[in-house]
Amino acid sequence: MVPYYRLNEEITSTQQAPMTAREEVFIEGASQEKSGEYPLLDGLNVTETGWRPQPNAVEEPGKETSNGQQLDRNYEGSFSYDDGFRGDTLVGDHFQGSSTPVDAPVREKARKSSNIGYVPRALDTNDNPEVGNVAIRPNTYVTDVHTAEGAGNLEATGVEIRDTWSGATQTVEADTVVLAGGCIETPRLWLNSGLPDDGWVGKGLTTHWFDWVVGVYDDDTVADINPEREHMDPYVGQNSAVRFDKPGVGGLEDIGMSPGLVSFADYLFTEAGYSFDTPVDPDEPWDTRGYIVGKELKRRMANYRQTKAILVLTDDMPRQENGVSLDDTFSDEHGPVPKVRYEPGEEDDERRDELARIAANIHRNAGASHVHRAEWPPLLLHMQSSMRIGKVLDFAGEAKNVDRLFVADHSALANGVGGPNPTNSGQANALRIADHIGDRYF
Ligand SMILES: Cc1cc2nc3c(=O)[nH]c(=O)nc-3n(C[C@H](O)[C@H](O)[C@H](O)COP(=O)(O)OP(=O)(O)OC[C@H]3O[C@@H](n4cnc5c(N)ncnc54)[C@H](O)[C@@H]3O)c2cc1C
Repeated sequence: MVPYYRLNEEITSTQQAPMTAREEVFIEGASQEKSGEYPLLDGLNVTETGWRPQPNAVEEPGKETSNGQQLDRNYEGSFSYDDGFRGDTLVGDHFQGSSTPVDAPVREKARKSSNIGYVPRALDTNDNPEVGNVAIRPNTYVTDVHTAEGAGNLEATGVEIRDTWSGATQTVEADTVVLAGGCIETPRLWLNSGLPDDGWVGKGLTTHWFDWVVGVYDDDTVADINPEREHMDPYVGQNSAVRFDKPGVGGLEDIGMSPGLVSFADYLFTEAGYSFDTPVDPDEPWDTRGYIVGKELKRRMANYRQTKAILVLTDDMPRQENGVSLDDTFSDEHGPVPKVRYEPGEEDDERRDELARIAANIHRNAGASHVHRAEWPPLLLHMQSSMRIGKVLDFAGEAKNVDRLFVADHSALANGVGGPNPTNSGQANALRIADHIGDRYF
């Protein structure tokens, strides 16, 4: 994977995210040199416990500005692409889809999601009739994978597609078929196509069994860390720019978001019950946990500019009980709908608790005046490993039981890859599988 990680990082402009007040506070709480206890990890291949600045697939902030001025707190120039602004605007819009610079053409948007980093490059190959073979078909849903008897295994020969506007269907023939419908729809399509199932199709789903630990900081504490800062201002900068890893257990990510998302994620998304009648073990490093509502929620949100959170990403293990099967009651126009089950194992719970304690201690070390553990319920945001390499697929991503059929989305990953945000792994793995497809069939 490593060469493909590097290639993907180059294509997607992946580089160290800029630091803001939020990150300075995290480092204060985590680093050995400051009040914390963890070493700085200086490599990208993490094998030891520690904290590190986080690279993101986001172009350098203000790579070019219209007036040549540096993008910092004093910047007063334009943020318009037409006026010559290039790169990240530091507006903190990455969870909302990141459309900045607002008037930039798609390929020049700062955050290099697949639609920005890859699709325009693929379309560019159409300029060369010897190479170009790319067609984008919006409103098209694959409803069946066609197969024929091959030399040993079944062999994929194409797909059936349906136009979701007109309802018209069509068969597309292909030398190879690559499924990339995501961790739920890829196994659903597989099962609805009646392809062979050895017991692991759709199974082994991991989700990083998240949690969320909130710290509230007095302005004086923030100013003590850096006298130039007045508030934490969690909406400034990229949504995350620093993290912690503990191999075998998982990771932590320092996060800032806009107020609507913060009130939900900090205080309204929990499996712990209402905070006012949820007891807190005095030996645990948090002051409160669970739902905060009503006047208390307003009071907490009044401290929004002094509040930030740490996301817990557990290295949860793939288990055969978790994943996707077909619902035997409900269907839509594309067949039986998927039924999804995820329940963490006991060891996953223990890992999550350990990480939540580390997060709370980082807040404490940095001087938080109040620490709140949200105790999130399962959230299907970082889904991986429901069509695992090693089980359903061979090392090249080709189905063990169906030749010429590949899976190249996050379902192909063998597990949760230790807890980092999954897109770099999913994209690197897709690049790796593409090379194998070329070697085997073209
Ligand atoms: C709110 C949110 C925030 C996230 N933040 C981050 C982050 O900061 N960093 C990070 O690394 N990851 C993040 N993730 C996770 C990341 O987005 C996913 O891991 C990744 O997009 C999964 O890629 P995929 O190709 O497996 O599936 P998807 O991105 O879901 O792509 C599957 C595509 O297939 C299409 N499709 C499905 N079925 C069919 C069919 N039968 N026919 C035709 N098309 C079909 C779908 O419409 C979809 O476009 C986030 C996810 C969410 C939801």
